[in-house]
Amino acid sequence: MKIVVCAKQVPDTTEVKLDPKTNTLIRDGVPSIINPDDKSGIEAALRIKEQVGGTVTVVCMGPPQADVAIREALAMGCDDGVLISGREFGGSDTLATSTIIAAGLKTLDYDLIITGRQAIDGDTAQVGPQIAEHLGLPQVSYAEDIQVESENSIIVKRQYEDRYQKVRIKTPCVITALTELAEPRYMSVSGTVDAYAKEIKVLGFEELKDKLNPEHIGLKGSPTNVVQSFTKQAKGKGLYYKDLSAEEAVETIVAKLEERHII
Ligand code: FAD
Repeated sequence: MKIVVCAKQVPDTTEVKLDPKTNTLIRDGVPSIINPDDKSGIEAALRIKEQVGGTVTVVCMGPPQADVAIREALAMGCDDGVLISGREFGGSDTLATSTIIAAGLKTLDYDLIITGRQAIDGDTAQVGPQIAEHLGLPQVSYAEDIQVESENSIIVKRQYEDRYQKVRIKTPCVITALTELAEPRYMSVSGTVDAYAKEIKVLGFEELKDKLNPEHIGLKGSPTNVVQSFTKQAKGKGLYYKDLSAEEAVETIVAKLEERHII
């Protein structure tokens, strides 16, 4: 089975800050990681490959330094990496991003495309389903388990808040992965050495221009406008009560909640 996993390089969110003037993330000096849902998607893809054979290609759209995320995926065991990168792609919102990624995917051979459910820096959960729409493929989102049933049929366990659904889907298709889908393996030592020897295919605007309308990418192809963004301010330090017994602590908390009409 030919599997392609879309993996986004994201800033480690606990350290993300926003530039109040430009409304964009300050990425300089912030450590980057593979988006957690995507890493589970990579692991799920590797397990399918181990079970039924095939290849796993990782695709990342981002600046040249996103190459590091691809090499990490290669070191985990992916076969190939594709970096979609170009100045023309900058400023893209989710619609333009999925348009560009879908154009890149059209240059590849695949039976199954796995994306994460959502990226921890954007959190929209839009890109995976949009890719499926652009490519005219069936999709199952929120996957917590994937079982290959036959050469062209997959059973996906789809998570809901209070239940799950088992969905049979024919390939080629798109599945969006939850972090719970599979615990990612560590990079192997030999995999890390090989990963840095491998060539990563780079697709820029020139390579994709036949598949893209320039009006649908970048800032001008993005219907979303960020009007304002802000970093949450730390709250006041609150009240500390020391040396209270459990009963006194309960009474104090209840009194405070009543005072504020919370209970
Ligand atoms: P989600 O929809 O939450 O991601 C779902 C899944 O899609 C991921 O788990 C992953 O598998 C896949 N995926 C998403 N993005 C990628 C990717 N890049 N590569 C591979 N797989 C991916 N971001 C910038 O970096 N630079 C900008 O200049 C910029 N300008 C923006 C301008 C506007 C007006 C807006 C609204 C957003 C802008 N963004 C920019 C953010 C950018 O739109 C999102 O990072 C991107 O579209 C992904 O959306 P998301 O993070 O919500 O992903």
